[in-house]
Amino acid sequence: MRPPWALVEPVFLAACTRCDACIDACPTTILVRADGGYPAADFSLGECTFCGECAARCEPRALVRGADGAAPWALKASIGHGCLAESGVECRVCGENCPMGAIRFRPRLGGVALPQLDDSACTGCGACFAPCPTRAIALGAEAAERMPDEFPTGSER
Ligand code: SF4
Ligand code: SF4
Ligand code: SF4
Repeated sequence: MRPPWALVEPVFLAACTRCDACIDACPTTILVRADGGYPAADFSLGECTFCGECAARCEPRALVRGADGAAPWALKASIGHGCLAESGVECRVCGENCPMGAIRFRPRLGGVALPQLDDSACTGCGACFAPCPTRAIALGAEAAERMPDEFPTGSER
């Protein structure tokens, strides 16, 4: 998973000089050198606060924060198999860590409450990923990636 505001993958790869500026700038230290030396987000290390520092420091403009307030990426969380609540073990860790309140717990008769994720509220920040004791949460891309001509000015930078 590329850093937030990354251009569509082939364009990103062409623009990124692997300078590490975004990695060094990230206050939550979730950006790491991945395959080929290109940066990627690793949610096992923490969450993205969408502070924008990585994009602001990206001189070749491989990360472009547009003026239109577009979502930084298409990532969304999903809850898969292995959730403790599914097995009848009380756990609300993901919901407690979600800054958006996107994970609610639905009471069940005769069982513990199950997590329910509201896609529309999820920003893909990754705050729920590392704390989940069973790694039942995944983050994946939901929508098409963006092309650079969607961000002609980059005026927020
Ligand atoms: S927006 Fe901020 S917290 Fe998120 S990856 Fe970039 S520098 Fe790190
Ligand atoms: S933190 Fe993990 S195990 Fe706990 S309720 Fe959330 S998804 Fe299930
Ligand atoms: S990725 Fe972030 S916003 Fe989405 S459910 Fe997890 S903690 Fe909440």
